[in-house]
Amino acid sequence: MASPAKETKITPSSTKSVAVVGGGVSGLAAAYKLKSNGLSVTIFEADGRAGGKIKSSSENGFIWDEGANTMTESEKDVGRLIDDLGLQEKKQYPISQNKRYIVRNGMPQMIPSNPIALITSSILSPQSKLKIFLEPFLWKHQGTKSSLKVSDECSQESVGQFFRRHFGTEVVDYLVDPFVAGSSAGDPESLSMRHAFPELWNLEKEFGSVLVGAIRSKLTGKAKVKGERKTSVEKTKHQRGSFSFHGGMQALTDMLCKEFGGDNLKLNSKVLSLSCNVDGSSPFSSWSLSYAANDANTKALRKDQSFDAVIMTAPLCNVQEMKFTKKGNPFVLDFLPKVNYLPVSVIVTAFKKENVRRPLEGFGVLVPSKEQQNGLKTLGTLFSSMMFPDRAPNDQYLYTTFVGGSRNRDLAGAPVDELKQTVTSDLRKLLGVEGQPTFIRHIYWRNAFPLYGHDYNLVLEAIEKMEQNLPGFFYAGNHRDGLSVGKAITSGFKAADLVISHLNSCSKQDA
Ligand SMILES: Cc1cc2nc3c(=O)[nH]c(=O)nc-3n(C[C@H](O)[C@H](O)[C@H](O)COP(=O)(O)OP(=O)(O)OC[C@H]3O[C@@H](n4cnc5c(N)ncnc54)[C@H](O)[C@@H]3O)c2cc1C
Repeated sequence: MASPAKETKITPSSTKSVAVVGGGVSGLAAAYKLKSNGLSVTIFEADGRAGGKIKSSSENGFIWDEGANTMTESEKDVGRLIDDLGLQEKKQYPISQNKRYIVRNGMPQMIPSNPIALITSSILSPQSKLKIFLEPFLWKHQGTKSSLKVSDECSQESVGQFFRRHFGTEVVDYLVDPFVAGSSAGDPESLSMRHAFPELWNLEKEFGSVLVGAIRSKLTGKAKVKGERKTSVEKTKHQRGSFSFHGGMQALTDMLCKEFGGDNLKLNSKVLSLSCNVDGSSPFSSWSLSYAANDANTKALRKDQSFDAVIMTAPLCNVQEMKFTKKGNPFVLDFLPKVNYLPVSVIVTAFKKENVRRPLEGFGVLVPSKEQQNGLKTLGTLFSSMMFPDRAPNDQYLYTTFVGGSRNRDLAGAPVDELKQTVTSDLRKLLGVEGQPTFIRHIYWRNAFPLYGHDYNLVLEAIEKMEQNLPGFFYAGNHRDGLSVGKAITSGFKAADLVISHLNSCSKQDA
């Protein structure tokens, strides 16, 4: 095993067993932390492979990602995990990652990365630029209310309403809309500010001005890092920004899987039911899991296994299909609201370099909803081989395009021929591609992202209710703590910590 993540000091007195349901990155991270702390862990994964929404493929000299393409190390735990797994050297940073584009009037425009670039950029009108610079003063024009009061009164606000209030409509249409479409397939009006961007929402609460808050918290963050004793990870020179790994994002989940050989990682094992048994004579609950074990040769066999605790990381739509019992009685999940999911098609295409008239260097291009009026239908395209030149043969450019989301749900599920036409047409307008792609792959994610909508607090409350009523049950993953890979990892780690302290406190009571 790679050197374990050792920051958790609490260790149960005797080896306890924990089931982790779901082998996506959150489940693998949770399992890794539990195992590092001496617990016996079994991961149940319904699919024939672990990784969930992280999946890399290669063929004909091309390497591409079907789900997440890059991640960041914004969360401290993530850097440590990558270090522990020995993956620092395998990290791959995109070339010119600060060159990112947004479409305006049918053509890609570079996103300004600093205030000077913003002044000279033509992405926003002079009025909007002025509004951005004046935001620290203008937000106060909502009366004499304190920032706390303003943010409390606006707690039900959409992402669009929040940013419109601070920066105006044009910023929402041309910066916020493409950003949320690119990161969550959502749209500014359906997403809840409090749930989709809790950090920014809290900045308003504390500072009123989002700009002032962002600058001050960045400065405080820097000062804190300076003052802290640096760990080995922080001593390592980290580049900032998004990154992947050589061979694709799956290097991360593959490395996590390596930690769990044989029977500890059960693939093709769909969990069907979970029963929680509490007998009153012991503070420990015992869990019995029933799962369908499929393999290529046998029909599904129903099997049972017992554990001291469970971490659930399967999407909530899958949890709703599972049967729960507590002390032999059904524990009905009728209080768990239906989650709204956004579908996305990922279309990977390659074109001969000589057939791309206006190739752009950089990360990729995002398409605002407003640009649909210029005939553009995709959400955005990553310049995959511009970022990572080893992902395509020398004479070709590789692109990864996203279609669908809340903007265009039906198109996400369209036949591949229609999607190919849509993507080729958009790339023709944006980059001047000519002819047909030399290579195409299509991946359809029916439930790509849970929508953190206005009533997402009901979902979060229902998760808490499950945890409160089912001793030894914990939920983690991208339905709870954020959509990014980094946040899913942190969520898994958090659940592992909770399991460890739960088992510890049961041991103390039992002693
Ligand atoms: C197209 C796309 C692009 C993305 N791009 C990025 C990006 O560039 N950067 C970024 O940070 N994030 C990105 N994301 C988001 C990120 O990939 C996910 O949020 C994250 O990987 C989710 O991890 P998870 O473990 O929470 O869930 P999942 O990966 O969904 O894992 C859940 C697992 O549970 C399993 N499961 C379900 N039911 C059962 C059952 N009954 N029994 C056992 N197992 C079960 C599933 O098979 C699955 O493997 C992207 C997502 C998508 C779809």
